[in-house]
Amino acid sequence: MPQLDRTPAPVDSRPHVVIVGAGFGGLACAGALGGTNIRVTVIDRHNYHLFVPLLYQVATAALSPADIAEPIRRILSRHPNIDVLMGEVTGIDRAQKRVVLADGSFVPYDRLVLATGSSYSYFGHDDWAAIAPGLKTIENARRIRARLLMSFEQAEMCDDPERQKALMTSIIVGGGPTGVEMAGSIAELARHALAKDFRRIDPRAAKVLLVEAGPRILASFPDDLANYARRKLEELGVVVLTGQAVEAITPEGATVAGRFIPAGTIVWGAGVQASPAGKWLGAETDRAGRIPVNADMSVPGVPDVYALGDTATLAGDDGKPLPGLAQVAKQQGEHLGAALEASLLRDQPMEPFHFHNRGNTAIVGRSAAVFDFGKRHLKGWFAWVLWAIIHVYLLVGFQKRVLVTMQWLWRYATYQRGARLITQDSPTSATVQPAASPVGRTAQPFNEPRRRQG
Ligand SMILES: Cc1cc2nc3c(=O)[nH]c(=O)nc-3n(C[C@H](O)[C@H](O)[C@H](O)COP(=O)(O)OP(=O)(O)OC[C@H]3O[C@@H](n4cnc5c(N)ncnc54)[C@H](O)[C@@H]3O)c2cc1C
Repeated sequence: MPQLDRTPAPVDSRPHVVIVGAGFGGLACAGALGGTNIRVTVIDRHNYHLFVPLLYQVATAALSPADIAEPIRRILSRHPNIDVLMGEVTGIDRAQKRVVLADGSFVPYDRLVLATGSSYSYFGHDDWAAIAPGLKTIENARRIRARLLMSFEQAEMCDDPERQKALMTSIIVGGGPTGVEMAGSIAELARHALAKDFRRIDPRAAKVLLVEAGPRILASFPDDLANYARRKLEELGVVVLTGQAVEAITPEGATVAGRFIPAGTIVWGAGVQASPAGKWLGAETDRAGRIPVNADMSVPGVPDVYALGDTATLAGDDGKPLPGLAQVAKQQGEHLGAALEASLLRDQPMEPFHFHNRGNTAIVGRSAAVFDFGKRHLKGWFAWVLWAIIHVYLLVGFQKRVLVTMQWLWRYATYQRGARLITQDSPTSATVQPAASPVGRTAQPFNEPRRRQG
């Protein structure tokens, strides 16, 4: 394949910073370099920036994908010094200082910022990923939504009470913020939004299990907030199983602490692994694949390369590793952008990064959330309102803020969910088998495309 040089403009004298990944960290870094006399190229495999914290609302039919994603080009269009490329990065040529893309083309850099995030780790059971999708991409959120809604449709078509029960059971693996948010949201979907829409099943009888191998849910939160979240989930009807590990996952269900639980939907929210950026560089990584970076986010032993956000690990001022949070990635991006400008244009040394904790939060249901501000803890309705205000504020674009606010207000007043479409071409439901329909037909297996008539 010919090696195409994707340098965006005829070579000029400005230094060139390449940022791989337009998530929270990469975008913040690009924003800090916008309008400067530095040439910036942002590369992402998607053409949109995804607001990951609200992905669970797409998976549970509360929001549509377009509500939480914004074109990267549009976000950065006001900065003429920034060029955006949509492409999959597959490697880095350290010797020649260039980024290699999947199509064989390359982008040379003076300084390189790696902000490629993370994905879910299945602890060596990669075959579980197809059955129990993790909530990290729009594709997976749509897949989970389709499975969830399809399971109720199939239960309505099914005569066997045991199978109905299985189809209406959801298992969420991992009691971190994502698991807690998903479990609460599915329980509310079944108990309110779907409650009156079926004739043969009662969606309120749906079972939601949240399974956590550790001794308690929300391990990164203080005890009082974790206990409150558990109580609130149980009030919503969620069965919280702590100290119980998932041992096997099959299309029919999951084995939890030696007991098989048939389920229609299984969602993965457990381990996390960093993007392969460390491998591209041949750099040292920790067990989760993160690159341990210096205080200025430079990669040790690799000149002019920096890593931040979920793909890097750095100790905070208290000596503990900074958590994998959007606010960490964002602050790092802003800091690194400013430091690169100072270094490249004013020859100043790269300043070390210090994280300012703005509070860790998780939402438990339609009127409850927890906030950990370090010394101060907040929970309940006021925390939920604060959560909503902050998340709307952090969404990119005024139009999105208005749209999401309107939908939340409508949902709050009516309990309805506006995005209940099953649009996936082949939603391979965990338990989808041909089910006897009420009229004696055998329903088409949902994961098998209809055969074309010849
Ligand atoms: C379901 C969920 C809920 C969360 N909720 C919260 C929350 O409420 N609050 C909070 O602070 N944090 C939350 N987090 C964590 C937060 O989303 C991450 O810490 C944050 O996204 C990390 O930012 P990042 O810039 O490192 O990576 P990301 O935001 O993941 O961005 C990585 C970017 O790199 C691109 N990319 C990856 N590989 C390549 C490649 N090979 N080539 C080109 N492009 C590539 C991706 O397309 C993506 O745009 C949540 C995470 C999840 C999964």
